[in-house]
Amino acid sequence: MGTSSEVSKLHFLLFPFMAHGHMIPTLDMAKLFATKGAKSTILTTSLNSKLFFEKPIKSFNQENPGLEDISIEILNFPCTELGLPEGCENSDFIFSSPDLAKGDLSQKFLLAMKYFEEPLEKVLETTKPDCLVGNMFFPWATKVAEKFGVPRLVFHGTGCFSICASHCIRLHKPYENVASSSELFVIPELPGDIVITEEQVIEKEEESVMGKFMKEIRESERESFGVLVNSFYELEPAYSDFLKSFVAKRAWLIGPLSLGNRKFEEKAGRGKKASIDEHECLKWLDSKKCDSVVYLSFGTMSSFNNEQLIEIAAGLEMSGHDFVWVVNKNGSQGEKEEWLPEGFEEKTKGKGLIIRGWAPQVLILDHQALGGFVTHCGWNSLLEGVAAGLPMVTWPVGAEQFYNEKLVTQVLKTGVSVGVKKLMQVVGDFISREKVERAVKEVMVGEERRKRAKELGKMAKNAVKEGGSSDIELNRLMEELKLVKLQKGKEK
Ligand code: UDP
Repeated sequence: MGTSSEVSKLHFLLFPFMAHGHMIPTLDMAKLFATKGAKSTILTTSLNSKLFFEKPIKSFNQENPGLEDISIEILNFPCTELGLPEGCENSDFIFSSPDLAKGDLSQKFLLAMKYFEEPLEKVLETTKPDCLVGNMFFPWATKVAEKFGVPRLVFHGTGCFSICASHCIRLHKPYENVASSSELFVIPELPGDIVITEEQVIEKEEESVMGKFMKEIRESERESFGVLVNSFYELEPAYSDFLKSFVAKRAWLIGPLSLGNRKFEEKAGRGKKASIDEHECLKWLDSKKCDSVVYLSFGTMSSFNNEQLIEIAAGLEMSGHDFVWVVNKNGSQGEKEEWLPEGFEEKTKGKGLIIRGWAPQVLILDHQALGGFVTHCGWNSLLEGVAAGLPMVTWPVGAEQFYNEKLVTQVLKTGVSVGVKKLMQVVGDFISREKVERAVKEVMVGEERRKRAKELGKMAKNAVKEGGSSDIELNRLMEELKLVKLQKGKEK
């Protein structure tokens, strides 16, 4: 048994799925744990360590000598042996390569995570952490952790609403009772009479490889210590209660995690290196009126064809609003860009800023000139938008993004749907320029909507302050983990 200070000091092992939307909040989580006096080790591959962790962790450790260090533990990932392309250590590799069959490869990539089962065992044996925060896509991690008496928490990377909606749809299969795939139905049992259509839900194919994998995930979750959620109670109280009562064994809401980044460098340095000089970008925003600029970004996995990008450009111009638009393309100098209407940038000079590649998103969203956010409803982006107090245009593409859209449009009432009908996974369902224009105009003028969004932004900030709901939930979780640690020590 160690000394009392050793007992009160927890050590978390964080094992994120290898995609931007999981790596980014993992770093935020490690920093949050450090501020609570806990040590964190992030388990990842060498490429991901370089991309996401090395630099910001070095700065964090140097700037916070009084806090526990965050460390990194590197695992080998033999891509080619696992039937994946060389260097495929992050799902971004798949989504940013135009020639790859994304659907097949991303499924293969997901299933290849099982390779980590044995290496994880070795790490747990040597590092002996007090808790493993393992991504939902690692269902085997619960058993491995159990072997070493380590409580395993599951991190989904999404909010309570979508987990609950998905649970209710799986349980009741309401899509079996509709006349067509585009007919609206109410999600049974889920609070709020939420409506959706069959073509927007992902739970239908239980017998497919993915369906079976998802079942494994749910089973491992039931046997785990509980679920860690990047959300806050005031955002989705009914769904947080529902999650805790009917879906997950236990759950702790500890977000928004992005709010832990307060300094310029921290906000600017999330994820990849920005494709624009951050200071220039802020200078451009400084020249704009409060609440006047709309920001468009579709995350790291969704990609639109040229025809759709042309419609977005035209719709933006027709809306008349100033904009910052992130396009997942890296056009080389002088090359003709087929995805932009002829002369678009000259025509919109001073009114619009196109970022080709990676944007310092949180830095932009937090700027006072921002007045609206056109988002694909990836959970991180959505929550970053909420935390920044912004009304949104919802433009879901795949995964659980349609559920997230319904949270914004039907529950929070801080968003306008652009009108996507169908889940497409990677390449979005086509939306006309008129729809883009209408949604942008509507979101930028709605005062009531903006007021509600700003209130939510305040609630988000309060949740993570000392004594706020997320702060309290995290304290409770840590107290419980300390008790487990103490108990384990006594049993030795
Ligand atoms: N992001 C960013 N700059 C970009 C695109 C994305 O900083 O140009 C960040 C964004 O702030 C968010 C994450 O990448 O934290 C994307 O996660 P999300 O869940 O929104 O979407 P996904 O990419 O997983 O679909």
